Parts: sequence; C-alpha cells; structure tokens
Amino acid sequence: MINYLATQKNWQNAFSDTITSFAELAQALDLPMDSFDSQVGQFPLKVPRRFVQKMGKGDIHDPLLKQVLPTFQETVQVTGFVTDPLDEQHANPVKGIIHKYASRVLIPVTGACVVNCRYCFRQHFDYHENLPTQNDWQAISAYITAHPAVNEVILSGGDPLSLSNRRLLEIFTTLEALPQVQTIRIHTRVPVMIPERLDEPLLARFANSRCHIVMVIHANHPNEIDQETQIFLAKAKKAGVTLLNQTVLLKSINDDANTLASLNEKLWQAGVLPYYLHVLDKVAGASHFYISDEQAVALYWELLAKCAGYLVPKLVRESPNKPFKTPIDLYNR
Ligand SMILES: *Cc1c(COP(=O)(O)O)cnc(C)c1O
Ligand code: SF4
Repeated sequence: MINYLATQKNWQNAFSDTITSFAELAQALDLPMDSFDSQVGQFPLKVPRRFVQKMGKGDIHDPLLKQVLPTFQETVQVTGFVTDPLDEQHANPVKGIIHKYASRVLIPVTGACVVNCRYCFRQHFDYHENLPTQNDWQAISAYITAHPAVNEVILSGGDPLSLSNRRLLEIFTTLEALPQVQTIRIHTRVPVMIPERLDEPLLARFANSRCHIVMVIHANHPNEIDQETQIFLAKAKKAGVTLLNQTVLLKSINDDANTLASLNEKLWQAGVLPYYLHVLDKVAGASHFYISDEQAVALYWELLAKCAGYLVPKLVRESPNKPFKTPIDLYNR
C-alpha cells in the first residue's frame, strides 16, 4: 500500500486518484450510502484516496472524514458567517497579490487544491479574477520592487504544490531575481494529502535556492501524520526546508487538548514545529465547526500544561484590516 518511490509519474497518479463521488467514498470506507447527506452545494466532495486511507473504516465520525464530508449543515445560514470573512478582496493591490502585512506578500498561485476542506475560508474566493497569469508576474515583480519592506513571498492558493515542477521552478527563479526577497514560503496541505509530491527535483531546487525556504503544512489531527508523510517531511528537512504547521480549531474534530498535544508530538517526530492554531474563520457553510473563543482559550491553557513550550502553537485569529494575525486574549474569560 505504501509507495515510497518519488517520481513525478507516481505523484501524478496519486493526484488523479481522488474521490469525488459519495458512492466511491462509501465503498472505500465500508459505510452504507445512507450515512451521507447526498445533496451537494457549490463546493463539491473532493478528497485524495491517500487521505481516505488514513481514515477509520466504518466510522462516520472519523475526524479526518468530517473535514472533507459535505453535510446538510453547510446549507444552514448563520448570521455572521459570510463568503469573504477576511475581506481579502480589499487587500488586492494588483492582480495576483494579497498584501495585508508589511513585510510579506501572499500570492494565490493556483485555484487548484488537492482536497476540498469543508471549513476552507477561500471556498468562495474568486480565483478566476485573482490568479496571476504568465503576464501578471511582471506586474507582481514590479509591485514587490516598489515595496522594499517586502522580504518574504508566500505562495498560497489553492495549493501551490498542485502546480507542476516546471511552473514552480519558474516562479522560484522569478522571485529569486528580486534581491529583497529573503524567504520564499509555501503554504500547502499536500505533504498530508499526497506526500510523494515532495519529489527529488523539487527538493533539490529547494536545497539550491539562495532564499530561505519555509513550508507551512496544514494538519488538524494526529491521524493525518502517518509514516509516509513523516518520511517525505524528513526529506524536505534534509533539503534545508524550515517546516511549520498550522491547524484550524474544529468542533468535534480536534477541540480537545489531548488530541492537539498528540498532533504536536507527531509533528515534532516529523521535524515540524507547530506554528499557528487558528480559530475558525467565519465562512458561510462552516458554522457547524465553530467553537467559541472561551472554549478555545480553556483548551489552550490545558495545552500549555501538556507540551514543551516550543510545541505550543500561537492561538490566533485572522481579521480584516489587522496588520498581523491577532493573538487571542488568554486572560479574557
Ligand atoms: C497569514 C497571512 C500571511 C502570513 O502571516 P504570518 O503571520 O507571517 O504567518 C501573509 N499574508 C496574508 C494575507 C495572510 O493571510
Ligand atoms: S487545503 Fe487549504 S486551501 Fe485547500 S481546501 Fe483545504 S483549507 Fe482550503
């Protein structure tokens, strides 16, 4: 079952081996069809088989399944849950750039993602309007040059690692040509979904970059970090990549301190440091994952008592019009 060969052909096969039908999902998990809400809205079911293999069979409450399974709860309209919770449309100075924080710009390099996470805050984002095309890269370079405070470029999406190596390498070369850029950061869920995407040519390019390469992965539950994910993360680390993780706090998936502590341990075994623990962005369709700030803070205090200081992520909220991710006030309870 485990495939350690890291060739492009292999990971391309893994990318296309994605489950998009309830029938297939039911079969893969030994679940009856009637355990699912069959109705699907605009944000369809999409999950790589690799990720499904990390789920428990016959368990409709599996914490990994819950992250990707469409339910009727998504159609419930809840006040305060909106389509663009971060108001990113207004931090979009030139096409293809989101510039909210002084020293770093974020570029959604692709709308393609390997998975559809039900709580995704960009699920309503207009990628068509904002994706940089080949020609837009000139404008992006000019924008960065005109903003000397920018020293870091974050590749985001969608998932940047769903691009081909050829595209990614072009982007790296474009960014490295800007002397002010010290760090290239990749926000990706691929090491959890299709770890062998971290293939040799890509890792070699990371190793040869004149920039610091930071990879911020996204894992929410310890079961996401299996042996194969650990093996490929170790390779990335060997290539000199700084590995961090961000987690979204999700009701009945990871909203208890033991689960989070165990996630932190698994990450650490894979050479990854916990970076951010995000409270949920209030995006339309995700209200059933919401936990209150009070609960988040209580949980965080428990986590502090369990883990080494360097294994405790920062508890933050992303707010529109703030020049940084806002720390949640731990004393406000
Ligand atoms: C999260 C985010 C960043 C990166 O913030 P860090 O605190 O450096 O991790 C940059 N730009 C945007 C728009 C972001 O949402
Ligand atoms: S991996 Fe990230 S961008 Fe992709 S669907 Fe999940 S939360 Fe959204």
